[in-house]
Amino acid sequence: MHSIRARLTLQYALALGGTLLILGLVLWSATVGAATRTQVLRVSSTAEIAARLVRASAAASQSIVVTRDTIVGRQLAPHVHRLLEALPGYLIVADSSRVLYTSPLVIALPQKDRSALIREIYRSFTPAEPAVRVTLDSVTLLLVAQLEAGGDAMPGLRVIAGESLAGLSLIRWEIFAPVFIALPVLFVISLLLSWAAASRAVAPIDRLITDLEAIQDGRSLHRRLPVESEDNEVDRLVGTINSMIGRLEASFAALRRFTADASHELKTPLTVLRADIERAMQTQHVSYEQLPSLEEALAETARMANLVDSLLTLARADEGRYDIHREPVELEPLVHDVFETALILGEEAGVTVDLAVVEPLVIQGDVVRLRQLFLNLATNALKYTPRGGTVTLALEQRGDQAAFSVHDTGLGIAAADLPYIFDRFWRADRARSRASERGGFGLGLAISQWIAHAHGGSISVASRLGRGSTFTVTLPLASTAGTAGSS
Ligand code: ADP
Repeated sequence: MHSIRARLTLQYALALGGTLLILGLVLWSATVGAATRTQVLRVSSTAEIAARLVRASAAASQSIVVTRDTIVGRQLAPHVHRLLEALPGYLIVADSSRVLYTSPLVIALPQKDRSALIREIYRSFTPAEPAVRVTLDSVTLLLVAQLEAGGDAMPGLRVIAGESLAGLSLIRWEIFAPVFIALPVLFVISLLLSWAAASRAVAPIDRLITDLEAIQDGRSLHRRLPVESEDNEVDRLVGTINSMIGRLEASFAALRRFTADASHELKTPLTVLRADIERAMQTQHVSYEQLPSLEEALAETARMANLVDSLLTLARADEGRYDIHREPVELEPLVHDVFETALILGEEAGVTVDLAVVEPLVIQGDVVRLRQLFLNLATNALKYTPRGGTVTLALEQRGDQAAFSVHDTGLGIAAADLPYIFDRFWRADRARSRASERGGFGLGLAISQWIAHAHGGSISVASRLGRGSTFTVTLPLASTAGTAGSS
């Protein structure tokens, strides 16, 4: 749930879900309240009509109460009885101590419920609280009482009307069933819509990321991100990034130009210096004590000339000025050639150099650069392998690639250092390299990597500290090399 799209959708879902829930609850309580009020009104009117009927009958016939027999006790006169029977629902008319009338629905109640109901009507009602809810075993009732004060013609009466609450819950369910089904469906639909809307909103950012990834390396800084219009936030961001890339491009170019110019300018004085030192060493006047200093000066000049050369190579490569001269190159003789050189260097260093497999492979490329690449790896292996070690070269076909590998049993490279070894000026142990005069400047592998990339290939390393390393260059074979770039 970390993407902006997912977070937007989640927030929208929470807001929408909350709103729908509140809406549902408000609807629910409003409907229930209205239905309850309507029912109370309806039952009150029934009670009032019943009370009026009783009162009107009393006024017309002097007495509404007749004594029929001693078992049943007092009852309402039959004509009042008939009138009351026309009223709906539960109806009970009672005086202060006895029930005078019970409607058919009350009679139909089970004996236990009827007794409980009759007990209830003497207990719960006051003029201030005329409506109560009574739960019986078989039914829950809403009861409303109409309390009639007694007079000459009739005793004080309580007229109680009632209605089952089951009707009310039925109303609630009928109203809410569609609402309860519709709300989740609405929720899911709007969730999908919000996911789609969030996706649309972040789509330009996705495109921006893809475009930016394509121009991350220093060589694509001439490219710009497309701007569709000036009026949305993403396009304004793109505009800002574009101008930043512009400034980066300018400073990168200045830096490269400076390195290239400086290296170029240093070349001539270094050549002159070298020639001067060599000449000084050959004169007859040079004393025996002076010779070591002159030799050291010559070695340092040679190192510096190498550095300047490497810098110039990389600066030109960065500027895209170093075109790789492409022609079919037979790798087998090239590897043999490198092997011969390595043999000589290995002899000096006390390291055995082997040639494992060499397959006759042809690639499209620049023979000078390829030799430089292979020699770089071979001399590195020799530099970082102590006396008694072995360096093995191999050239074999792997799929549609030629794989040149250099394996050594030398110092190896720590796993933590591996990601950096192709960086410019990076060396695993500067003191070690310098002290033992092995040291280059940490540019050899950067140049090797550039050469491999320029041929559409790659370079990789597998190494364990103290156990040795294997550097492998893979280059597309001639028939598949046509599309490789030539930076
Ligand atoms: P350098 O001129 O210092 O050899 P490179 O760019 O060729 O520069 O190599 C960078 C660093 O990678 C070296 O300083 C060394 O620490 C490490 N390295 C390269 N090749 C090997 C190897 N075969 N065995 C162990 N370490 C190596």
